[in-house]
Amino acid sequence: MDKLAIVVPCYNEEEVLIETVNVLVSVVTDLIQKEKISEDSFILFVDDGSKDKTWKLIEEENRINEYVFGLKLARNRGHQNALLAGLEYAKNLADITVSIDADLQDDVAVIEEMVDKYHEGCEVVYGVRDNRETDSMFKRNSAQIFYKLMKNLGVESVYNHADYRLMSKKAIDELSHYQEQNLFLRGIIPLIGYKTDCVYYSRGKRTAGESKYPLKKMISFAWDGITSFSIKPITMISVLGGIIAFFSGVSILYILIGKLLYGQTIQGWTSTMISIWFLGGVQLMSIGVIGEYIGKTYMESKRRPRYNIETTLNRSDEKAKDEKN
Ligand code: UDP
Ligand code: MG
Repeated sequence: MDKLAIVVPCYNEEEVLIETVNVLVSVVTDLIQKEKISEDSFILFVDDGSKDKTWKLIEEENRINEYVFGLKLARNRGHQNALLAGLEYAKNLADITVSIDADLQDDVAVIEEMVDKYHEGCEVVYGVRDNRETDSMFKRNSAQIFYKLMKNLGVESVYNHADYRLMSKKAIDELSHYQEQNLFLRGIIPLIGYKTDCVYYSRGKRTAGESKYPLKKMISFAWDGITSFSIKPITMISVLGGIIAFFSGVSILYILIGKLLYGQTIQGWTSTMISIWFLGGVQLMSIGVIGEYIGKTYMESKRRPRYNIETTLNRSDEKAKDEKN
């Protein structure tokens, strides 16, 4: 029988953690009863350097609950890195992983469907939202624009899929070969290949606590996603430069003809100022975008570790053994 690990990245999630443990434990025990997964399946909570009681709660739960495992990162590295840490740790202990956010906005009922698809031979099963009614209007629209933009820029990703997915050990082994620092799992995983499928669900509201993705993080996440997978922004700069050069050529002609043929001496202060500021702005922006790519190359070239593990908790820990005796 295949062993399942549910991987849950947590950052300051003390408000929802206990509830999440209860829900996920009941999912796991239910699947065990149905003989779809092995009895030693587990839930791995990855503490992404939380500043609140999150890790304490994980430790407590690990002591009293045989299904709860923990992994503590040395400091906050962000959702994507925390998730990767959890997946790479879990793949050595389990055959299948399902990643899910700690706030359980994603419907846990489809985990069973995911496992079924795995048994049908899928190595990756994407959880896809079929509506976004519970998200705020702003989040919904910005996400929509983001997916469209990504698609137009040539980044392959599954529409309306966040990081709720099943991955087999085999798929994670492949994922580990993608050594980039700038992690954008949704963009990388479709590159792996293998047989994949989707399951559909509607997304609920956060049960408690606040979103850990404020606007600033959302924008930087979107920007990372684009610049890590596409060099189209650089191409667009060249095109923009071409267009502006063309129009300035036309206006130079216009000015010269006006001056030479008709003797117009245009005061021209306004147009000069406008073009100086406009061109200056375009140039700065363009240099910025190119700089972004150079910066990314620089960061990648360091080959730093993507996360550092501080401690792990699992069933073989002394504490857990003591508890059983
Ligand atoms: N998260 C994390 N590290 C961070 C920020 C978030 O591990 O630096 C986790 C968080 O605990 C949650 C998941 O990533 O389990 C998604 O975060 P959230 O629900 O706040 O994002 P939203 O659903 O609002 O996009
Ligand atoms: Mg959430």
